[in-house]
Amino acid sequence: MNEILQQRIESVQAGKNITHAQIEAKRSLREQLDSDLEAFLKNGGKVETLPRGYSGLSDELKPTQKMRSIMSASVAQARALSDNPSVIAWREAKEKGLKHFNGTACITCGSTLRYTSTRSCFSCNKASSLRRAERIRNGKAV
Ligand SMILES: [Zn+2]
Repeated sequence: MNEILQQRIESVQAGKNITHAQIEAKRSLREQLDSDLEAFLKNGGKVETLPRGYSGLSDELKPTQKMRSIMSASVAQARALSDNPSVIAWREAKEKGLKHFNGTACITCGSTLRYTSTRSCFSCNKASSLRRAERIRNGKAV
């Protein structure tokens, strides 16, 4: 099985899709699992169904509860962002179709004027494009 996985990783890294041999290996593994399950049930084995949110690996781990706490933290983060004055200003500028808005101060130059599309600093962007134009004029690499 590890060999098949290794083959799969290599084929994906090489940009190839799954090979015919891998499909066949997977099919035979599936058939093996089916016959193993059949033998297990024939010998008196039983398949238990766990309640929602429980894992067969641990009684303590409850994925749905874990996921719920992750999602509520994410919602809280999104709410905190929507209360941010910079985010409010950006949203207003976007709704009005404005090209610029006044957001948080740039860490490089301290200016608050930003592009609505990228939220990047207007002054730093301008300075960067001027430097690029200068390099091109001087025939240096782009
Ligand atoms: Zn800046």
